Amino acid sequence: MTAGRELRVFYSTAYAPVSQPALQRLALAAGLLARRGLAQLQAPAAVTRAALHGLHCERYLDAFFDGTEPLASSQGVPWSAVLRDATLAMLGGQIDGAQHALRTGVAMNLARGFHHAVYARGSGFCAINGLALLAHAMPERRIAVLDCDEHGGNGTEEFAAKLDNLHAVSIFGTRFGCYGGVRSWAFPVRVREQGFDTYLDALHQAVEIIAGCRPDLLVYQAGVDCHSNDPKNQAGLSTRELFQRDLFVFKSAGLLQLPVLFLVGGGYQRARRVAQLNLNTVAAAHAALGLRRRGSE
Ligand SMILES: [Zn+2]
Repeated sequence: MTAGRELRVFYSTAYAPVSQPALQRLALAAGLLARRGLAQLQAPAAVTRAALHGLHCERYLDAFFDGTEPLASSQGVPWSAVLRDATLAMLGGQIDGAQHALRTGVAMNLARGFHHAVYARGSGFCAINGLALLAHAMPERRIAVLDCDEHGGNGTEEFAAKLDNLHAVSIFGTRFGCYGGVRSWAFPVRVREQGFDTYLDALHQAVEIIAGCRPDLLVYQAGVDCHSNDPKNQAGLSTRELFQRDLFVFKSAGLLQLPVLFLVGGGYQRARRVAQLNLNTVAAAHAALGLRRRGSE
């Protein structure tokens, strides 16, 4: 389904406005991807207010669009129209990326999944839950989320209990309120104490669960804040172990013939370091799925 294809990566300059230093790592990663011929970049259309209707509660959506405080800044970053519009652009990339993955087998959105946002508010630097958005926007599709960020996907877990086409598996070093629940599974693993085999075992279990859910689409959040040098990490994965993680997920998607949309997740080291770790994830997708570099036969 994917062999010989170029990787389509959804990204636009609207994702990383210069006034938002924390988002500059996305611009760096996009530049590296293009220069190295690893992907074809495509700018998505921003998601509309109508597309978000019913995903979060109306009071919160109104506040997010209008800037009404304190709800507008409940994600933990001061609200601004620029940041709102960057979020809407990234959420547009979620939907366009998911549709591209369903058509061709694979796509990437160069954005975070915003997995901490819950129904009534934002949280943990996440304003609108872009993982739950896919289940909300495509009710006829079964969506499985594999979230391998340092932090558990508590928001996605809450949404999984509400949306019967959303299944969420989190493997994390920091629980962040993620305990498993209805259509949700939680695997806390700290590699420094428990060893990488324990992490691999959690990945195997996660893939088994996901296969059992018979999804139409796998959404893989390849967070790199679980890297051993990241200031927020508890999981303690080395660069090589992160690559093995990514390789395992993409190979599993290939074996299951499961379309996969992947995302970068968190990362809090220097922007250039985070962008390089994100590129390693793309390299793993290339290796596992036989993707083609731009300009190659
Ligand atoms: Zn995180």
